[in-house]
Amino acid sequence: MDMSEINLNHGSSALRGEMRVNQPMKKYTSWRTGGVAERVYLPADLADLAQFLRGLPQDEPVHVIGLGSNLLVRDGGVRGTVVVLHGRLNDLRLEQRDKGDPLIYAGAGVACAKVARFAALHSLAGAEFLAGIPGTVGGAMAMNAGCYGAETWEIVYKVQTLGRAGRLQARLPGDYEISYRHVAMKPGINDGEQGEHKSGSFPDEEWFTGGWFQLSAEKEAVSRQKIKELLTRRINSQPLNLPNAGSVFRNPPGDWAARLIESCGLKGFRIGGAMVSSTHANFIVNTGTAVAADIEAVIDRVRNTVKEQTGVELVQEVRIIGAVSERSGIPDFATHYSVKEDQNGE
Ligand SMILES: Cc1cc2nc3c(=O)[nH]c(=O)nc-3n(C[C@H](O)[C@H](O)[C@H](O)COP(=O)(O)OP(=O)(O)OC[C@H]3O[C@@H](n4cnc5c(N)ncnc54)[C@H](O)[C@@H]3O)c2cc1C
Repeated sequence: MDMSEINLNHGSSALRGEMRVNQPMKKYTSWRTGGVAERVYLPADLADLAQFLRGLPQDEPVHVIGLGSNLLVRDGGVRGTVVVLHGRLNDLRLEQRDKGDPLIYAGAGVACAKVARFAALHSLAGAEFLAGIPGTVGGAMAMNAGCYGAETWEIVYKVQTLGRAGRLQARLPGDYEISYRHVAMKPGINDGEQGEHKSGSFPDEEWFTGGWFQLSAEKEAVSRQKIKELLTRRINSQPLNLPNAGSVFRNPPGDWAARLIESCGLKGFRIGGAMVSSTHANFIVNTGTAVAADIEAVIDRVRNTVKEQTGVELVQEVRIIGAVSERSGIPDFATHYSVKEDQNGE
């Protein structure tokens, strides 16, 4: 398919971003697998993205992603346009205020680790945990990403969003329902575009383009040391040498998903090329040949087994998009055996 197959009504001024067609989503996701997106758009900047969205046909599906580190794209691929923000909306700056410590502004496409280092460099504390999250600022805001007791929205002062009709909006944390790995627009919040009230699952047709972070003064060396310790902890506890998407399930209240999965004997459980990591049971790794259906089948099996054996219903943290391939489904060669990851080239 080429671009002429959708009617991009962008008026007289030309778009400055890059349109790629028939893109294998394994190039854009940390699981390194998944079907093909009809179109991938890499905006030149915020104005270009707004113009792009404004010109899209009403029925064109749009998915906005960052680094794809929490995303599984089914093997049947994605209809419509995937907008990739990583490295695109990448402003990162200090904004002085009349009173109090300066704010950090970060565009949605900035890698979280960059924000952590930037904050430390400017002697601001509170963003160290972002060093361990391999996603973008936009993804972290959409997921309320966090680790080691800290969460993204604890440090968000204000955000900027862009709606499907190309209109920018400033929003405050109070506009959202925010909890562990969950962000949704509060019921009754005006979307500022058609005057409609948005509610429910966020983001839907409105996406984060950047955020202001409120941090507190601290010596650079203290923040740097925290970042170092956090990264060492991660290297020792996570299977970082095989493609994965971090924790697949949210931790249930008062417990750890990894503990429950391990207690069911599922470490090393494997379907096709997807395997429950033997380093961290809440991670599913792509041992090299996994298709998305393998990963989804492992997710389902883990969820069902944990429910049967412990009564706990695990809630999925990773997002899944796209169509099931006609050739996929749970393969009949599903096996259950334990292998050490280092036997698979880790
Ligand atoms: C090794 C590893 C370790 C991880 N550790 C952690 C951890 O400790 N804590 C944690 O919370 N997560 C962790 N993750 C998961 C992941 O990094 C986070 O969820 C991260 O915030 C996702 O950011 P992203 O840019 O990759 O988002 P993507 O995966 O690209 O997108 C995730 C979701 O957010 C939406 N989204 C992305 N950008 C925007 C935007 N600008 N506006 C609106 N919606 C948007 C997408 O549509 C999608 O639904 C880990 C992942 C890996 C691979």
